Amino acid sequence: MRKWFFLILILILTSALPVAHAQELYHKSGPLLHTFVEVKAYGDNSTRAIIDETFREMARVNNLLNNYDPASEISAINTAAGGKAVHISPETYVALCDAKKYADFSNGAFDFTVGPLIALWGFNREQPELSGSDPDKKRIAQVCRMVDYRALQMEKKPSGPTARLKRTGMRIDTGAFGKGVSADRAILYLQEKGIQSALVAAGGTISAIGLKPDAKPWQIGIRHPRNLSSFLTIIALRDQSVSTSGDYEKFYYKAGKRRTHIIDPRTGMPVSTVQSVTVIAPCGSASDALSTALFVLGPDDGLKIIEKKEGFEALIVTASGEVVYSSGWPQKKITY
Ligand code: ADP
Ligand code: MG
Repeated sequence: MRKWFFLILILILTSALPVAHAQELYHKSGPLLHTFVEVKAYGDNSTRAIIDETFREMARVNNLLNNYDPASEISAINTAAGGKAVHISPETYVALCDAKKYADFSNGAFDFTVGPLIALWGFNREQPELSGSDPDKKRIAQVCRMVDYRALQMEKKPSGPTARLKRTGMRIDTGAFGKGVSADRAILYLQEKGIQSALVAAGGTISAIGLKPDAKPWQIGIRHPRNLSSFLTIIALRDQSVSTSGDYEKFYYKAGKRRTHIIDPRTGMPVSTVQSVTVIAPCGSASDALSTALFVLGPDDGLKIIEKKEGFEALIVTASGEVVYSSGWPQKKITY
């Protein structure tokens, strides 16, 4: 009798254990943040709604940070440049504090106040002016003086955080790190909802949570900068982010010269020494900001700063097509 009792008890207990639901892949993609956004996540049938909400979260962050949206908090800071400090949300405050960190770390090669130079070279317009000549040296030097991330003053007041650009005409441009911040927000949101395996792609930034249900890492193709339909290499990503900055993303030809959208804040000139830079980092805002920083710094100085940082790796394709990478770069099979 005792034996039967225990057997029945065990049967009751095991039938009460939660049954592991099959992990299915859910997927959504579409235009967002002036680029193409894609979220893939494994989970049960609640995952579809979680992904929809993730898209809304990314749009919400973008609405705070997008310098092309006159209603964003960044636009409010830009409009008030040289005047009063403006109140910003804690999220914008954190994003700008992080951006300052990356600007310091790259000795100003990544400088989010590059806005006036972006406008000078016409990259703030759908269609830059292609006739005439380049801006003259004096004008470039003048505009360079409007670019200095150290002139962003931030304060945590009892009424909330504020930000102020010191001089009229200064402009924050979030192009090099905003998508990374949105990707980080998406990853955090998915994790808060219990998702253990997901991939978020926002333009050139891709972030991964965990492994796939088959215990394999996510595989990411790194685009060939001159043959955009093929990959230079494939890397494995797990609880990390990867960003690529390429001279093929936005560029034009003027007076026979190819001009790309990443500008060296020290010279005021579009960078022409690199085709693409890929950075692997623990989070998307870091990989995004530092891919732009290394684009400006080039292979020597760029790899030097990356080697100093635990958890960071980089691969650079120079203008001549030479491929160089940091000592811990995960995939040595690279075909240029
Ligand atoms: P993508 O926009 O293709 O993802 P990046 O992340 O490298 O590429 O960002 C490039 C954008 O960053 C430019 O379009 C411009 O808005 C801005 N930018 C250009 N040069 C710099 C710089 N030196 N520092 C910070 N931002 C920059
Ligand atoms: Mg970037």
